[in-house]
Amino acid sequence: MMKVGIIRDSRYLDHKPGNTHPEHPRRLKAIYDALDRSPHQGLVTLAPEPTTLEALEMVHTTSYIDKVLKTADQSFTNLAPDTPASAMTYLAAWLAVGGCIKGLDEIISGKCDACFALVRPPGHHARIDGAGGFCIFNNLGVAAEYAIRHYHMERILIIDWDIHHGNGINDLFHEQEKVLYFSTHDILLYPYTGNFEDVGKNAGEGYTVNVPISREMENDDFLYVYERVMIPVIVRYRPQIIMVAAGFDGHREDPLGKCRFTEEMYSRLTALLLKGREMAGNPPLLLALEGGYQPSALARCVEEVLQCLTGEITGREISHSESAIAREIVQKARDTHKKFGVWVE
Ligand SMILES: [Zn+2]
Repeated sequence: MMKVGIIRDSRYLDHKPGNTHPEHPRRLKAIYDALDRSPHQGLVTLAPEPTTLEALEMVHTTSYIDKVLKTADQSFTNLAPDTPASAMTYLAAWLAVGGCIKGLDEIISGKCDACFALVRPPGHHARIDGAGGFCIFNNLGVAAEYAIRHYHMERILIIDWDIHHGNGINDLFHEQEKVLYFSTHDILLYPYTGNFEDVGKNAGEGYTVNVPISREMENDDFLYVYERVMIPVIVRYRPQIIMVAAGFDGHREDPLGKCRFTEEMYSRLTALLLKGREMAGNPPLLLALEGGYQPSALARCVEEVLQCLTGEITGREISHSESAIAREIVQKARDTHKKFGVWVE
């Protein structure tokens, strides 16, 4: 049985971007409430610490970090037109990165096999010098950089199943091979980047795998893409650690994603991920919460993932009833990447 940790802290709820803003504290509150209602056996709750300036500076510019700090104790300011800050936002943002690093330390030390950082604000859109898409610091980007510099990791796989393209992570590791960024997303949504041809550059060429999907896809279509594209990438790249930008805005009730997936899809996706992980020799697994804007649907999705990780539900895997759209997308991804050697064949 896997030892699974979660990172949680009530201070993540103190980032208040406004009552009508989609990235509202009630998202995380719904997840924490669900966990309190039905605790999972074998799940360890871990408290985060704020990250250090040194860790943040591995990714973000000093002037941008200062800009975030200057929002402290101001009742309301904007870091980007879609990303406001309230008085305690800076602390939540430091804790979001710190939570991911705490999770990383736990899994690398072997205290946990997997850790899910249930944090906010999210991170995958954050750029080195700016906020955007509700993200302030690039939580997983900093964790990956920390894993490289602190733990001397050379093969880090970041899987991004949020329905938006994680342009921040994409750009951060665009020119290097130590991080392979794999993302599925609807390219018609913010930030409108991440086409098939965006494969990385220089030493990083081939180490960015962007797979734009269609909002017409059903559960089995999405799983088919992961089985046919992600699994071969995992097997060939043999990551020393797998990180997941775990957004759940592909859920059918999500007001921003407008896709068709159900919560069950996310446990099946997790089962598939665990299968791939096993084929790569069971590297440690760090998940960090990204999007998901219908609070109760989000909580159900997170529950599904945790139940799969802790072994409470098993056997939910791919059933092979994919559509022509899914087959087309897989073909396009394989054709684009064949020459870079991340494939098994
Ligand atoms: Zn998203």
